[in-house]
Amino acid sequence: DHGLSEADPEVRAIINKEKERQFKSLELIASENFTSRAVMEAVGSCLTNKYSEGLPGKRYYGGNEYIDELEILCQKRALAAFHLDEIKWGVNVQPLSGSPANFEVYTAILNPHDRIMGLDLPHGGHLSHGFMTPKRRVSGTSIYFESMPYRLDESTGNSSLLLRLNWFSGWYACLVVDLICLKFGTGLVDYDMLEKTATLFRPKLIICGASAYPRDFDYPRMRKIADAVGAFLMMDMAHISGLVAASVVADPFEYCDIVTTTTHKSLRGPRGGMIFFKKDPVLGVDLESAINNAVFPGLQGGPHNHTIGGLAVCLQHAQSPEFKAYQNQVVSNCRALARRLVELGYTLVSGGSDNHLVLVDLRPLGIDGARVEKILDMASITLNKNSVPGDKSALVPGGIRIGSPAMTTRGFTEKEFTAIADFIHEGVQITIESKGLASGSKVQEFLKFVSSPHFPLTDKVSN
Ligand code: PLP
Repeated sequence: DHGLSEADPEVRAIINKEKERQFKSLELIASENFTSRAVMEAVGSCLTNKYSEGLPGKRYYGGNEYIDELEILCQKRALAAFHLDEIKWGVNVQPLSGSPANFEVYTAILNPHDRIMGLDLPHGGHLSHGFMTPKRRVSGTSIYFESMPYRLDESTGNSSLLLRLNWFSGWYACLVVDLICLKFGTGLVDYDMLEKTATLFRPKLIICGASAYPRDFDYPRMRKIADAVGAFLMMDMAHISGLVAASVVADPFEYCDIVTTTTHKSLRGPRGGMIFFKKDPVLGVDLESAINNAVFPGLQGGPHNHTIGGLAVCLQHAQSPEFKAYQNQVVSNCRALARRLVELGYTLVSGGSDNHLVLVDLRPLGIDGARVEKILDMASITLNKNSVPGDKSALVPGGIRIGSPAMTTRGFTEKEFTAIADFIHEGVQITIESKGLASGSKVQEFLKFVSSPHFPLTDKVSN
């Protein structure tokens, strides 16, 4: 039996190139991270060979003695990592990823064509929360269920005078912009409108959570709205699950009936998903059996045991003091980035950030996110173009999304994230002036500089 280099040099060479790309670039995609060598070892193990349809103790295949032990361990660690009482909460660790986890919840508690409300995709929501265009039902969620999205408050909009306070830059301005946006709800979920719409639309499920929302959700308010219309309340904490585990953002478990997540973003685990559910019946539904049955046999077959192994490793780490310190640093770094961007005169959706990402509105500069993404990519700075509230076209979105989890894993602190804001500024200037392409050499120098002996960068991009 040969190793990869011998067995398939072509695939090995591609992996090597990708490893080098990851190593050399400034990774600022908010949904990405570098998982640990220990997680990768579990994911690349013999666990991938085993079939184990069903749940621990109730399998449709023999030979599952150790797989049962592993899945039970993973479940226990998942509940412990999110500070949950095993009597009150259960978890399914088999979802293959975030979108399947969400769809599994929908099929568990809804009938086809039941109504749902999630945050609109152009306002930061996710495809799997029910996105559709006037012409097309885009995801399975909008094909099989009736979706009425809620949106952010853009009435006082990003283009408002309030955010133009940016022009007198500096610390004070950052604070003022941040406070004004929070006070007036600029760029925040429009809870009043959500309440009015829900009263008319009568959804059976309201979904909190987002892919590009820099603030905490107001869970008590959403619980109240859900209760008033008799809806389930679910949180998709995919982006912020690491922050939730470390208690550096508000806790959705206090208010929601169901919480889903991916495992590979701020949580820093393998690529997978989880569904947490209340054990007591909600609205007459036994969530535990409905959700477990929706995962298997409803929508999946055999669990990916190698992923469950990697997830168990990640969830143990998520209970450590180092993990808490890491998540605190993720948030601090993001704030430093936001502060510097505002100092440089940028307009941020909602004026700042409570979590791991900022959303920059580039429209006041007369450029779009797609071109900036491309220019920065050429300088080995990887981030996303992203739509911002009020965008006319999703194809040419007016903003960029910048996240701090991945580079925080590589040891960056506030100082480096301030420098990152300056790099991005340079890229934006180049885009505006169309001077040509940014050079990657400066980024390489920077990476060499921060690669100090106390933080060996190579460790974080293994395999
Ligand atoms: N939910 C949210 C909020 C997300 O941001 C994402 C992906 O970015 C998903 C679900 C889907 O996860 P996956 O890509 O693993 O299906």
